[in-house]
Amino acid sequence: MTFEELNLTKPLLNAIADLGYSKPTTIQEKVFSVMMSGQDVCGIAQTGTGKTFAYLLPTLRQLQFSKDRLPQLLIVVPTRELVVQVVEEVRKLAAYMTLEAVGVYGGGNIKVQMAELKNGADVVVATPGRLVDLAMNGSLKTKAIKKLVIDEVDEMLNLGFRTQLKNILDLLPQKRQNLLFSATITNEVEALMQTYFNNPVRIEAAPVGTPLENIEQRAYHVPNFYTKVNLLDMLLNENPDMSKVLIFVATKSLADQLFGQLEFQFPGGIGVIHSNKEQNHRFNSVRQFHEGSYRVLIATDIISRGLDVAEVSHVFNFDIPEVPENYIHRIGRTGRADKKGVAISFITDNDAELVENIESLMSYSIPVVPLPETLKISEILLEFEKPKIFMKSIDVKLPKRGTVGAAFHEKIDKNKKVNVRRNHAEEKMKKYGRPIKRSGKK
Ligand code: AMP
Repeated sequence: MTFEELNLTKPLLNAIADLGYSKPTTIQEKVFSVMMSGQDVCGIAQTGTGKTFAYLLPTLRQLQFSKDRLPQLLIVVPTRELVVQVVEEVRKLAAYMTLEAVGVYGGGNIKVQMAELKNGADVVVATPGRLVDLAMNGSLKTKAIKKLVIDEVDEMLNLGFRTQLKNILDLLPQKRQNLLFSATITNEVEALMQTYFNNPVRIEAAPVGTPLENIEQRAYHVPNFYTKVNLLDMLLNENPDMSKVLIFVATKSLADQLFGQLEFQFPGGIGVIHSNKEQNHRFNSVRQFHEGSYRVLIATDIISRGLDVAEVSHVFNFDIPEVPENYIHRIGRTGRADKKGVAISFITDNDAELVENIESLMSYSIPVVPLPETLKISEILLEFEKPKIFMKSIDVKLPKRGTVGAAFHEKIDKNKKVNVRRNHAEEKMKKYGRPIKRSGKK
């Protein structure tokens, strides 16, 4: 099917032509017809499938020009980065339309965002918390909202946005069309749809767990952090085709430690993003990576979700993710839109079970390649890698039940005394025949 066959408007077709896309992806094609029929949609899709345009094409197609410039389309996403990215996508698609898109997110200046909304916005892209704040203070007018998109719902719930999400759903006009996108449909997502949606039509992009076909996967068994650093260093030095490398690590602190190590080897070529970094720093790092001035970007899972960084040549799982689905999200950053990609994982002895879960989710065994012979194996261990020392537990013999109880010997006489409360007033009365009170010095 071509875009022309989708019943798009001329301005949208022109914008797509500018973007150079030849045909809609599976999810784009499927979502479009269901949306146009007015039904609610539940899209099961991960990033890399073209899901953003899957919801933008039909919603922008149905947007009506209004002089009031009240929001008609509301898109809720879990992270600030995604807000910025989706706003950009809206602007690209609406290049030939008269349409105002505004992005609002926590951490950004709320006054500026209030002013932007006041100037008029047809499309609002928001993170849940800030959205509730702006709706409650009256800056975001909800009455004209006809379509609601909730993207990456599973991630939103993971991040603890339950209450905000429900608040938003309660604030919106009853008569509206809903679209929900999630990589996995958990019981909670299911319950949310039962309560707030109207029999959504399920559309699956690629069955969850199917690794994208144009990604080559491989793994190394590596004993510890510093050996991983050595291996990474070696691979980056020996493979100039590793030109845009996204490295996933388990925690913020490991991200910073790895940054320290790599920055030393490749000064100025490494970026790092995680939730402790300032917003500007995060935007800049992603931009530099986008533009190619950073060859490597180190990231934690949450921040990287949904980030669309084009043409990532290699994804490294420096640490194996605990949630198997995250493995698929991570490797989905490469091999996008028909480009070949490579995903390389570093597996330690402790990761055996995690890898097993990932492999059974994908129904695929990640091929393991031997470590290069010249690789320097480090003996230095980080604190969490050191073997745990268990204290020997000593059996304490407790006295038998029968012998436990009162003291075994008689108290000596002075210990037998019982404290008696003295009545000083009475004693004074007896001694002096009148009550004598203590009085402070005048
Ligand atoms: P998403 O799954 O929405 O994160 O999109 C993944 C990437 O695919 C983005 O870089 C889009 O610009 C790109 N893309 C979206 N639709 C198409 C299409 N029909 N043909 C080729 N690339 C696309």
